Amino acid sequence: GTEMHLRVRIAPLGNRFMLVLAADRTEELRLAGVRRDFVANISHELKTPIGAVAVLAEAIEAAAEDPARVRAFAGRMQLEADRLARMSKELIDLSRIEAADPLAHAERVSISRIVDVAIDRNKVQAAAKRMRIIPRVLDEAEVLGSEELVTMAVQNLVANAVQYSPEATHVGVGVRVADGIVEIAVTDKGVGIAPEEQERVFERFYRVDPARSRVTGGTGLGLSIVKHVAASHGGEITLWSRPGQGSTFTLRLPVAGAPAKETA
Ligand code: ADP
Repeated sequence: GTEMHLRVRIAPLGNRFMLVLAADRTEELRLAGVRRDFVANISHELKTPIGAVAVLAEAIEAAAEDPARVRAFAGRMQLEADRLARMSKELIDLSRIEAADPLAHAERVSISRIVDVAIDRNKVQAAAKRMRIIPRVLDEAEVLGSEELVTMAVQNLVANAVQYSPEATHVGVGVRVADGIVEIAVTDKGVGIAPEEQERVFERFYRVDPARSRVTGGTGLGLSIVKHVAASHGGEITLWSRPGQGSTFTLRLPVAGAPAKETA
């Protein structure tokens, strides 16, 4: 947003007082800091896969006489390239969300349809781990906003639930409405997140276990995208988790009011 922050001060002027209005630059400076950190983070995060690709290219050259090793190095190079591709896509998504106000061109978005799409887009990964994703839509609801972004958020939560759970467990996606808020709760029986990590997982590039995440191809951007989508739609994302038992991520969004009646 480009909202202006004003600081109001009452200053003495002779025997009278005057009202002083001054632009408050605190928010502006904070955002500049966030942006600077972001760029520093990106540079750091890109160095790892780019460095790995360079090292693997050298290793392939050195192993040219040994086809098995060439194949192994080429496979790892492919994984790093996939990760770079995913990272650049997610970074572009994130900057698009930050640049645009999804409520400016809001559409009415059906939550049950979004849940269906989010589950569908994760079914291959779930099947590969013999997992089932079970929707429990207790209430129908519509929200105002961007269908693409809300789908992306729910899809990310379901993807994480599958990713961070052992084989043959189930993921639940519950939807219910209370007090004008729709709650979309994604529950897994996975590894869980320790209390001291629970705030941090929503930060950009934060991963509880970077070594493991590198193998699985995580970028650490998924939950920061979810958090942005929630905030830009006037909602929130919360987390309940216990290590070894599982996690529930709950996305809450305000329900769209009844459509305006046609007036003759
Ligand atoms: P990533 O691309 O690494 O999955 P996210 O931003 O989506 O990035 O998640 C950040 C970190 O939070 C993950 O690396 C993982 O450690 C942890 N995490 C996210 N979802 C879950 C979950 N459902 N269960 C356990 N840990 C999770």
